[in-house]
Amino acid sequence: MKDRNILTGEDYIESLRRRKLKVFLMGEQVEEPVDHPMIRPSINAMAETYNLAQKEPDVATEISPFTGERVNRFLHIATSSEEVVMQNKMQRRLGQLTGTCFQRCVGMDALNALYSVTYEIDAQHHTYYHARLKDFIQQMQQHNYIIGGAMTDVKGDRSKSPSAQADPDMYLHVSKRSAEGVYIRGAKAHQTGCINSHWLIVMPTLRLQSDEADYAIVGALPVEAEGITYVIGRQSCDTRSLEGEIDAGNAEFSGQEVLIIFQDAFIPNNLIFMNGETEFTALLVERFTAFHRRSYVCKSGVGDVLIGAAATIAEYNGVEKASHIRDKLVEMTHLNETIFATGIASSFQSHATPSGAYLCDELLANVCKQQVTRITYEMARLAQDLAGGLLVTLPSEADYRSAEIGPVLKKYLKGRDDVPTENRMRILRLIENLTLGRNAVGYLTESLHGAGSPQAQRIQIQRQMQLDIKQQLAKKLAGIVEDDS
Ligand code: SF4
Repeated sequence: MKDRNILTGEDYIESLRRRKLKVFLMGEQVEEPVDHPMIRPSINAMAETYNLAQKEPDVATEISPFTGERVNRFLHIATSSEEVVMQNKMQRRLGQLTGTCFQRCVGMDALNALYSVTYEIDAQHHTYYHARLKDFIQQMQQHNYIIGGAMTDVKGDRSKSPSAQADPDMYLHVSKRSAEGVYIRGAKAHQTGCINSHWLIVMPTLRLQSDEADYAIVGALPVEAEGITYVIGRQSCDTRSLEGEIDAGNAEFSGQEVLIIFQDAFIPNNLIFMNGETEFTALLVERFTAFHRRSYVCKSGVGDVLIGAAATIAEYNGVEKASHIRDKLVEMTHLNETIFATGIASSFQSHATPSGAYLCDELLANVCKQQVTRITYEMARLAQDLAGGLLVTLPSEADYRSAEIGPVLKKYLKGRDDVPTENRMRILRLIENLTLGRNAVGYLTESLHGAGSPQAQRIQIQRQMQLDIKQQLAKKLAGIVEDDS
């Protein structure tokens, strides 16, 4: 990889060109992802993480204790509650600016979780993972690279552990060892923005048993490393990016989810941050998911866009003053702020780990993510309610542009007289994009399953709900004295 310090979104987009990636999309190998019209919107969304750092440095940058320089917040290790909170503020802002998943948080959350976990592994095993990780972070900060965090294995038979699978490749594992490093094999599913990243960090996806040491591998490798193949996931209505602008709904920005296949890809020793310490895998998964579950305040930024779109279509239809319309917008705002409130509360309640890095409150992080699994769907329902049926019956941009039928559509698709028909079409397409189309992947289904499906949060909430303490409180007030004998 060429040495470069990437400053702007444009620098970043240039940095992705001419890489020799093996990328498949719809049965074809993609020569240059940067110029592919279906991929480019996801690159544009990631580029906003650079542009925001330029435009609002207080929000999207921080001084690195490692380099003494101002670095992108996505590469910073938070060492105070305030810095953890700022991650959330940055995420909401980026959700507002892109209306989609801007993909860079997985790397930030992986670095912050690994920072404390490697410190604790070293303390117990006298290994050198923490120092290696610090060197790696410093290098990433100097060049302002993007790191994709690869955690979710394809998992095969869910009733079986990694070592009990008929095919050992259902979970990423070490396939070969040498004096210089390890080779890994397996596949990671639903990998957010990985083709748009410069580096990948692979991590185990669940708690491992002591005889599963080959699966307990954490390490970094360049996105263009030999032995990696990428297959891009379909997204609802994604080919609309090939068909013009209005029908795309949000032509500029989208998310990206990819299946990554590792066929004996190599990780050198200096980039290995866990190698067989199975007893630390649960801790890593818990800390990473805690960070990432409260990162879902990103959806409150996207929710701001959806509320804005719903209010706009009400206005274009001339019904914005109706009390039931206003009430629906109030309800959407209330729901949206609930996501933000729980996420940011988790960050405010951060505490120091032995490494000095701060860790968000795990219970509140899980509550935040659990809210996100429901609230976004209710928000989508309310937005569709306000949009009306035309949301799904609207003729195409091609018909609207047609010399023959276009003028007739312009007349009959008009709402309020002073609002151009095209504006009405555009806002309806944006609501469609967020609630049924390409960015519903990020706003809805990713809200349901990303960072763990709903039941995963409920398990964590159950572990931390401290029922015994709550029962004691109740019994004391009720005047219950139990016989200890
Ligand atoms: Fe970031 Fe949200 Fe996308 Fe996760 S879903 S990477 S938190 S924008």
